[in-house]
Amino acid sequence: MGVIFCEHLDGKIQYRCNTCNTYLTHRGYLVSTRFTSASGPAWLFSKVVNIYYDNAVSRNMVTGRHIVRNVYCKSCSSKLGWFYEMAFASGQEYKEGCKILELALIREETDDMPETSFGKHILSNV
Ligand SMILES: [Zn+2]
Repeated sequence: MGVIFCEHLDGKIQYRCNTCNTYLTHRGYLVSTRFTSASGPAWLFSKVVNIYYDNAVSRNMVTGRHIVRNVYCKSCSSKLGWFYEMAFASGQEYKEGCKILELALIREETDDMPETSFGKHILSNV
């Protein structure tokens, strides 16, 4: 089995694959929480790493016709959501290039560690 190189974007509140815990994105890339998928609530992110894309398909949604691709975890191949390649309805262009992650398929993780051990050391001596 080959070595899988995973990217990491850091961030205090991180989102990971619910199946294999691979890092996907963090709260700083969250665009909108007002989406719905087949599995329930879904969130729109401007950047997600460690995923791969399926073939582009045309899908008619509540907000009009879109060209989308399903996205999968690069490590375990679990489906995670979809990618908006193109939106045809006016006002929907902001979604282009963004990825939907289905909340049922990801997990949220909070990084409670201090910024640096040096900073913690300074604080403990005040
Ligand atoms: Zn995974």
